[in-house]
Amino acid sequence: MLPEQENPVTPVIEARSLTKRYGDVTAVDGIDFAVRSGESFGLLGPNGAGKSTAMRMIGGVSQRSSGELSIMGLDPDGKGPEVRAHLGVVPQQDNLDEELTVRDNLIVYGRYFGLPFSYLRPKAWELLEFAQLTEKADVRVDDLSGGMKRRLVIARALVNDPKILLLDEPTTGLDPQARHTLWDRLFRLKERGTTLVLTTHYMDEAEQLCDRLIVVDHGRIMAEGSPSSLIREHSSREVLEVRFGAQRNEEVARQLERELPGRTTPADRPLVERIESLPDRVLVYAHEGEAALEAVTGLGLAPITSLVRRSSLEDVFLTLTGRSLIE
Ligand code: ADP
Repeated sequence: MLPEQENPVTPVIEARSLTKRYGDVTAVDGIDFAVRSGESFGLLGPNGAGKSTAMRMIGGVSQRSSGELSIMGLDPDGKGPEVRAHLGVVPQQDNLDEELTVRDNLIVYGRYFGLPFSYLRPKAWELLEFAQLTEKADVRVDDLSGGMKRRLVIARALVNDPKILLLDEPTTGLDPQARHTLWDRLFRLKERGTTLVLTTHYMDEAEQLCDRLIVVDHGRIMAEGSPSSLIREHSSREVLEVRFGAQRNEEVARQLERELPGRTTPADRPLVERIESLPDRVLVYAHEGEAALEAVTGLGLAPITSLVRRSSLEDVFLTLTGRSLIE
């Protein structure tokens, strides 16, 4: 390992005013971020935010239009092969060789890196065990489930022992059980010190996996921080979700906006911090959701359903942009 990789304060990835334009479209619009060694760093944003474009520039497969980018101290424009040698890349679409067996996918991929069979044979078994695919070693890839394929793509990306693993939407299209299995594997990588950089439009994935993240929209960074600090900074402690039926939600939200602000809890906190109206429900941002619910029912309103929950990154995104992450 190089000394700079061991120093947690020296970034392994650094972007300054990173920009990518496709004709008139500015997909990534001057973003700045730094990823530290061993950190799990996320780019969270809705479809079209520019996450994959940023990832492709980091991966050295797309040239930036302007700005600066450094991966392990190297500029991917010009030092592409050297940069890629440090990276493991898990693309959004599985691009396994469906005709080959599970194990041969690892070995053939390793051969692209020029790794010798004497290294690859034991390495393939180690990676299969890590990906919980040992029993599938001799099965053809087209017989695997979606979750198993994803785990194999991750195992394959680890064949050259990369310092940094890039994951573009790692669990899109997987069922909940397969997602949890995959998250567990990624936690283990993180524990071993691999730097993870992932894009996602799932707030639960970002909350589970990321030490720190940037919230991206229209190619720009809206906020940056750990999931808990982002929630603390941009949302209330709790959220009351109430449904009054599609016809009435908007009207009730306006009534709540008229009647609830200014009221305080017994501890002298504002009862309600903010009210959002979505097509299917009204969100009441409050320190104490139950107290907010009492106030709502105290106005003679009877929600069809009500739920008090903790604030999430979805609420952060809604506060920052006025829109949902998944539309
Ligand atoms: P995300 O990964 O957040 O869904 P993308 O990076 O894929 O977002 O896309 C960001 C924007 O850039 C979108 O408007 C998309 O249509 C545009 N875009 C992405 N790739 C290309 C391309 N190869 N050519 C033209 N426009 C592109």
